[in-house]
Amino acid sequence: MTNKARLQCVSCSNTYPLFELRYECDCQGLLEVIHADDGMNNLAQLSDQRLMSRLPADRSGVWRFREAVVPLQPDELVTQQEGGTGFHHIEALCQWTGSKGLYLKHEGENPTGSFKDRGMTAAVTVAKKLGVKLLACASTGNTSSALSSYAARAGLQAVVFLPSGKVSPGKMAQTLGYGAHVLAVKGDFDDAMQIVRDLAREAQVYMVNSLNPFRIEGQKTIIWEILQDLEWQAPDWIVVPGGNLGNTSAFGKAIEEAFNWGWITKKPRLATIQASGANPFYKSFLKGFETIDAIQAETIATAIRIGNPVNFTRASRAIVNTRGIVGQVSDKEILAAKAAIDRSGLGCEPASAATLAGLKLMVQAGLVKKEDKVVAVLTGHMLKDTDAIMKSQTLACEEVEADAKAIQLSLDRLRN
Ligand SMILES: *Cc1c(COP(=O)(O)O)cnc(C)c1O
Ligand SMILES: [Zn+2]
Repeated sequence: MTNKARLQCVSCSNTYPLFELRYECDCQGLLEVIHADDGMNNLAQLSDQRLMSRLPADRSGVWRFREAVVPLQPDELVTQQEGGTGFHHIEALCQWTGSKGLYLKHEGENPTGSFKDRGMTAAVTVAKKLGVKLLACASTGNTSSALSSYAARAGLQAVVFLPSGKVSPGKMAQTLGYGAHVLAVKGDFDDAMQIVRDLAREAQVYMVNSLNPFRIEGQKTIIWEILQDLEWQAPDWIVVPGGNLGNTSAFGKAIEEAFNWGWITKKPRLATIQASGANPFYKSFLKGFETIDAIQAETIATAIRIGNPVNFTRASRAIVNTRGIVGQVSDKEILAAKAAIDRSGLGCEPASAATLAGLKLMVQAGLVKKEDKVVAVLTGHMLKDTDAIMKSQTLACEEVEADAKAIQLSLDRLRN
């Protein structure tokens, strides 16, 4: 069952061998991995059994589904036991959104603090198998952190292209600390992305942005783990933020495959939420996805500050096939949602909070009913962007004399 997977063009259906070094079809269409169907029906059950195993490949929330991710042997994988993230039901956030059946899948609990680890374990595993020398990505900071970490684990060199001055200090420190070489491009993410695409075309680097079909394969497991968390009962809605739209694409593929292989009997609907200052996918949705027009993006949620998403074809198909929707929220709404998530004790980075801000609007619009079962994906950890916290007006830090009486006064006020 493991050697029949192949790459297929999303536009013209041309196919290529699975382990061929290419990112796009000869027609320039996006590629995706097509798995052989045999044996897949039993994989949900097999993945349940693997929850009891101590093998790193089984403990990884990505590789416990390995036959349907990249069919390789456990000793070929570059894994840090990513995935296996928390699945939280928090009363305060149900009340805040008005959605009683709300669960949060916190992808910030991954090894480098974002869901990018799930895509990166797959992409770097394949890079190692292909024997490439230099790995590259454009990034707003999380993809570069994940690449830098996984490349280090694989003993491979990474070079990352970041928009100069637009990456949070935490993400920059992580990226540098794990050992990647940083090129700070005087431009925005979309400029950096174009540079990496061109270098990949010239075969100068191995590109691990979500254009890379193996990134998508790894990120599919967010959905499969959610279904597993729900004992294979599909929720009504899954809500996710959208930037370059790799996740939206991965989620659509994961839902399609889970349904076709009989792991679930109904498909959840997908809601992708964009920041209103970085909303090309939302605008395209309003026009029936006829085309997508690139924009100059600006938002406080830097992880989704992207004006020209490369995964448009795959992502629009994901929304259509799941009867999904695309929404938009303002930076103000994002920060209000982030404050609610932080105060609940869970915490997340700003881009992640777009999901809850969007869900709140969907409940208000009657699109999501109060009783619907909804899973919101939190994409990144709270510590990824501490500036966004420290700008808040309501933090409880008070300077105090090192003096028992002064401290007693503060404590008395807290008790009252
Ligand atoms: C990358 C990222 C996103 C955007 O995901 P896409 O797959 O590019 O749409 C959202 N939130 C965080 C924290 C991210 O790192
Ligand atoms: Zn093609």
